[in-house]
Amino acid sequence: MASPETPRAAARKTPEARTAAAKKTAVKKNAVPRGPAEAGASAGEPTASKAAAAPEKPAAKKPAAKKAATAKRAVPAKKAVASRTSAQAPAGKPESRLAMVRRARRINRELADVYPYAHPELDFLNPFQLLVATVLSAQTTDLRVNQTTPALFAKYPTPEDMAAAAPEELEELIRPTGFFRSKAKSLLGLSRVLRDDFGGEVPGRLEDLVRLPGVGRKTAFVVLGNAFGVPGITVDTHFMRLARRWKWTEQEDPVKIEAEIAEIFPKSEWTMLSHRVIFHGRRICHARKPACGACPITHLCPSYGEGETDPEKAKKLLKYEKGGFPGQRLNPPPDYPGEPAPPLGAG
Ligand code: SF4
Repeated sequence: MASPETPRAAARKTPEARTAAAKKTAVKKNAVPRGPAEAGASAGEPTASKAAAAPEKPAAKKPAAKKAATAKRAVPAKKAVASRTSAQAPAGKPESRLAMVRRARRINRELADVYPYAHPELDFLNPFQLLVATVLSAQTTDLRVNQTTPALFAKYPTPEDMAAAAPEELEELIRPTGFFRSKAKSLLGLSRVLRDDFGGEVPGRLEDLVRLPGVGRKTAFVVLGNAFGVPGITVDTHFMRLARRWKWTEQEDPVKIEAEIAEIFPKSEWTMLSHRVIFHGRRICHARKPACGACPITHLCPSYGEGETDPEKAKKLLKYEKGGFPGQRLNPPPDYPGEPAPPLGAG
C-alpha cells in the first residue's frame, strides 16, 4: 500500500502537479464500489456487511441500475432466489407452517424434475420378490441385494419353495447381504405364513403385512406402494435425514416422521415423494458430506452449507448416474439414464 504524501512533499510540487493531485483525491473520495471485488469482498469479508457499509448515492441512478443488471447476469437464477428466500425468513424469525408446506411441496416438484425416473432400487418381478428383497435390504445396499437375489429367486421362486428350504442353504445364498442368519429366519418364517395363512400370496393390506416375521411398517409400505399401488411414505435413513435437513419435521421416530409428512403432502404423492427423497439422499445429499455445491435445490434448503459448497469438489461427491457411475439395479427401468449395476463378482 502507498504511504500518504507528507505536507512538505506536497509543497515541493508545482501548482499544476498540486491541482492534478487534488483532482485525483476528489475522484477517489467520491468513488462508489461497483461490485464485490471493489467493495472489498476479496479481503475476505462477507459481501453483505460490505454492502451495508457502502455509502448511499441517491444521485447515482444510472450506475446503480447498471450495477443491478451486472449482478443479475453474474448470479445464477437459483442463487438469486436463494437470497430472496433468506431475506424473507431472517434468522430468529421462524418460517410459518404455510410457508414450510409450500416450500416442501416445491421441493417435491423440483425433485420430480431432477429425478423423473425415480423408482424403487430393488430388482423384482412380483410382490413376493419385492417382499423378500426388502427384508434382505436391511443394513446393506440395494445393489448388494440385487446382486444376491437372482440366484435366490432361481432356487426358490415361490413362498412354498422358500418355506421348504433347508436353513443352511438359504443362509448360504443370502450371505452377501449380511446378518444372513436372522434374515434367513425371517424369510423362512414369512414364507411359511404366506403359504399357510394367505394361500401363497402376498397380502395387499398393511395390517396383514406387518404380521409377517421380519416385516415392519417400512417394508410393508415399500411393498404396498410398489407392488400394489397403495400410497405409502417410506421413512428410511435417507428420508429421515433429509426431512430433518429441510425442516419438514423435528421428530426422530420414523412413525412420527411418517405422520407429520403425511400432513404435508397429498396421499397421491406419498410413494413417488419417497422415491425422490431417497434418490436425492443417495446421490447428492449424503449423510456425512452433502454435495451442496452440486445440489439443484439449494434455494429451497435451510441446511445449505452443511456439506461441500465448492462446485468442483461437490461434483466429485455425486453418486450413481449423477456422478456418471452404474446404478443399483441390474435391471433398471427403461427410462433410467444411468448404467445398470454389474452382477455379483463382476469387475
Ligand atoms: S443444499 Fe446441501 S443440505 Fe440442502 S438438500 Fe442440497 S445437498 Fe442437502
